[in-house]
Amino acid sequence: MSRRLVGLLLGVAALAVAGLPARAEDLAAGAAAVRDKALADGVAWSLVESLTTEVGPRPTGSPAAARARDWAMARLTALGFQNVHAEPFEAEAWVRGAEQAEVISPFPQPLHVLGLGRSVSTPKGGITAEIALFRSLDELIALPPGALKGKIAVVTQPMTRTMDGAGYAAMNRNRTQGAAQASRRGAVAYLVRSLSTDDTRLPHAGAMRQATDAPAIPAAALSVPDAQLLERMAARGQPVRVRLVLESRSIPKAPAWNVVGEMPGREQPDEVIVVGGHLDSWDPGTGAVDDGAGLAITTAAAKLVGEGGPRRTIRVVMWGAEELDDSGEAYAAAHKAEVDKIVLAAESDTGAGPVWQARLPKDSREHPAMKAFVASLAPLKVIVSRDPATVGGSDVADLIELGTPSVNLTPDTSRYFDLHHSADDTLDKIDPRDLAQSVAVWASFLYTVAESDIDFRALAAP
Ligand code: ZN
Ligand code: ZN
Repeated sequence: MSRRLVGLLLGVAALAVAGLPARAEDLAAGAAAVRDKALADGVAWSLVESLTTEVGPRPTGSPAAARARDWAMARLTALGFQNVHAEPFEAEAWVRGAEQAEVISPFPQPLHVLGLGRSVSTPKGGITAEIALFRSLDELIALPPGALKGKIAVVTQPMTRTMDGAGYAAMNRNRTQGAAQASRRGAVAYLVRSLSTDDTRLPHAGAMRQATDAPAIPAAALSVPDAQLLERMAARGQPVRVRLVLESRSIPKAPAWNVVGEMPGREQPDEVIVVGGHLDSWDPGTGAVDDGAGLAITTAAAKLVGEGGPRRTIRVVMWGAEELDDSGEAYAAAHKAEVDKIVLAAESDTGAGPVWQARLPKDSREHPAMKAFVASLAPLKVIVSRDPATVGGSDVADLIELGTPSVNLTPDTSRYFDLHHSADDTLDKIDPRDLAQSVAVWASFLYTVAESDIDFRALAAP
């Protein structure tokens, strides 16, 4: 055999070996190594520190949203990501104006409120009306049409503190659907107890939906103590009159961007793992836990796993309009053609950790890659659920609907809803160790998926 042929054959053999996914024991060792590196890594902290300090609150449609886009592209480039770009789309935006609320009678005093996204403005001079107070939204819904004519409807149901966000999920409709239900019954405005597990006097913002079959009305969140104050006043039996001033502006088509960076795959560049968080935030805080933390965790994990050249491409997406729910749809629409090549898509959007539970893609638990991932979790206090992943973040919901597999790496939300959408969503609430633990979980998962040939679609039994 000629030396040239031997050389050629050796070259082919080397290529073949390089083209193979890692063996099970290599995957396990690699996942553990990545985990340990992540636990000592400061990239996630430096990202969320930088975003909250140098950009701050960044609602869609605000000048800060454009600064956030520029910040994201600069940081991804500096971290070594390639193909860094912003994908533009049009999104709904809502801009807060002057807001004020007070009890006029029987016991005049100020109330602390924050207008809800998609609220309309009150008429000039505000609205002054008697309140109708309900301890649950169902109590309000039980009333017939017209029963709340001329009233300000108030719903004061408290929210349960849970590790998995179930308390928030259960109360979500009080904020999103309450105003529409009140308007259908003739109410002129709607106040909801903040979706909060805290007892501070800071209201928590968030989006609502107006009725399509009844007038759009002003709607705001009361701080928890103010909701309790109105309960005590109402219990005294006299009519309670409230004055409400809410000013805002709606922009139906504001410029928005999904910012993208990739660690290109060295063997299978067309097979893409999509992870990220959302870049936009509500305006009262600095968007630290929602969702500076989520994009910092996923970006740091992607950098850690990808910087040497991952087998498959790891793509970070910083979605640009989550709070009014537009960026996931825009992203899925723009990437419909490559959806079969997206191995998995996942968003981190429930805070700064620590991760306490993992829900794997359906029927993937016995695959060597997932066994390696699960083994790496042992020191991190993460429970692996028998239940498969559900939609873990609204920005990947549309991709999941198109058949893209997902994973849930669920942070402990016990404290998240003390802060979420309020002025208290600031950097000091993040524990760098919890953040690093979350990066370790994400990095280990990304490593095992990027370095193996796991095909979640094929594993999932129909
Ligand atoms: Zn969020
Ligand atoms: Zn949010």
